[in-house]
Amino acid sequence: MKPIYKLRLPVYLDYSSTTPADPRVVEKMLPFLRHKFGNPASRSHILGWETEAVVEKARECVASLIKASSKEIVWTSGATESNNLAIKAIALSKHNKGKHIITLKTEHKAVLDTCRYLESKGFIISYLAVNNNGLLDLALLNNCIQSGTILVIIMYVNHEIGVIQNIEDISRVCNKLRVPLHVDAAQAVGKVSINTSKTQINTMSLTSHKAYGPKGVGVLYVNKANVFKVVPQMHGGGQEKGVRSGTLPTHQIVGMGKAYRLIYVEGLSEFKTTKQLNVFLVKELIYIVQASVNGCLTARVPHNININIKYVEGEALMMSMKSICVSSGSACTSSSLQPSYVLQAIGCIQNVHNSIRISIGRFTLASEVEYVTQVVSGKVKRLRQLSPLWV
Ligand SMILES: *Cc1c(COP(=O)(O)O)cnc(C)c1O
Repeated sequence: MKPIYKLRLPVYLDYSSTTPADPRVVEKMLPFLRHKFGNPASRSHILGWETEAVVEKARECVASLIKASSKEIVWTSGATESNNLAIKAIALSKHNKGKHIITLKTEHKAVLDTCRYLESKGFIISYLAVNNNGLLDLALLNNCIQSGTILVIIMYVNHEIGVIQNIEDISRVCNKLRVPLHVDAAQAVGKVSINTSKTQINTMSLTSHKAYGPKGVGVLYVNKANVFKVVPQMHGGGQEKGVRSGTLPTHQIVGMGKAYRLIYVEGLSEFKTTKQLNVFLVKELIYIVQASVNGCLTARVPHNININIKYVEGEALMMSMKSICVSSGSACTSSSLQPSYVLQAIGCIQNVHNSIRISIGRFTLASEVEYVTQVVSGKVKRLRQLSPLWV
């Protein structure tokens, strides 16, 4: 029997969890693990000057992708740290003005758990509901902001269902009522165009590993027009103007800079390819297995396909497809097998267990997408035959 496709197994369709580093990123990083190992803070010799220069170049690459100034970029270890740093720093510096913070039920755990922590310290958090399409109703936000509200935290693109919040309008509401806005943009980079010069965002979290850079590095964008200072959460050598101490991981930073540069140059054409693959995949899955897409159908990124397959346990389907890497619910919660809180928040009460998240990206091939539709339809047929509910 001759193989139908030449496939790279397992087929990786879990780009929302993490992405492989682009080979060009890896190439760029290697010298900084080898002979260019100087500490960027070493002011007294060539090896230090050299790495300081590349760190600043990478800073410009990140800044230019989001239309920011490089002065507004603070290196961190990833979006989890950036969220913690911004949220705790703003809460600490503004607690005299009030103790009320607003966020969404569908935020990432890095935001939700930080808010829970602040609750234990006496802050009051409003976890706003979203509509059944996953989007925030602006009137709800507007009504929730009070005189004691010191911070609003809204994600750009949701990690589980891929919906895009209207950050421009949200920022307008926050700005009008003079409440700082923190945006978690970990899933947005390379998928939506982020323009900090047009949109009034006070702080924003970015990460490298969801955009073809290495893991363990990220950025906190801090708007230079902010009236508040980001109080450091880490104390030490005073790097990053004292906001985030710790020796800069040059190789990681160079990798993130290169990854963001590649998006700056190639992002648009890549987006079109992803969109085409998405259209094919969604059409096939809806046609073959009568699946439906979770979350808003228009305000969404094409990289994420979170689908509901009636009478099929998402977990059982996933486990039956050993050659395919997808995710049921969020990667961060799937180890605990708790029903996804994001799907619950969009009203999928009965369907939380019937969903899988397929996420595609730069290295996804048409043949892989085709393979996946065939495998999924085969497995779904079998699982439905076992289901007493399927007629
Ligand atoms: C992945 C992710 C994070 C965490 O980012 P790390 O860099 O892995 O710490 C935070 N928020 C969202 C929306 C994410 O998707």
